Amino acid sequence: MEQTLAIVKPDGVARKLIGEVIKRIEANDLNICAVKLIHMTKSQAQGFYAVHKERPFFNDLTDFMSSGPALVMILKGENAIAKWREMMGATNYKEAAQGTIRCEFATDIEKNVVHGSDAPETAAFETSYFFNAFERTAE
Ligand code: ATP
Ligand code: MG
Repeated sequence: MEQTLAIVKPDGVARKLIGEVIKRIEANDLNICAVKLIHMTKSQAQGFYAVHKERPFFNDLTDFMSSGPALVMILKGENAIAKWREMMGATNYKEAAQGTIRCEFATDIEKNVVHGSDAPETAAFETSYFFNAFERTAE
């Protein structure tokens, strides 16, 4: 069983897509083992996306991620990392496969509704970034 960090980004929360995203998670047999609504500070967003700090979009991305509430979750299941990435679709919604969340709901390469960890190492860092041991009771 694998764990991954999923986020409904501020655009998704503002557009009332939390229910839509959770419905898909449950329908695809992933379990939610931790969840909370947070409003990241700019510096928390910078720490979360630190791997991208040299990228030209880093400042805009961290402004966006700290612009409003986001729903952070730990998902658990078989191949949870790849499965959730497949459900999200490609980063650029114009290239995302039919039926994926980004294909159906993203409006912009940045405002792409959801986040997912991309490897076991990043999943471990990202789940611990937002949740302590007491908040992960379903593990
Ligand atoms: P995420 O990490 O959010 O799950 P991802 O792994 O598909 O997305 P990354 O390459 O890690 O894509 O980029 C992180 C986020 O930065 C993207 O989801 C998107 O919001 C933003 N982003 C990526 N590339 C660009 C770009 N060229 N211009 C603007 N924003 C971008
Ligand atoms: Mg990424």
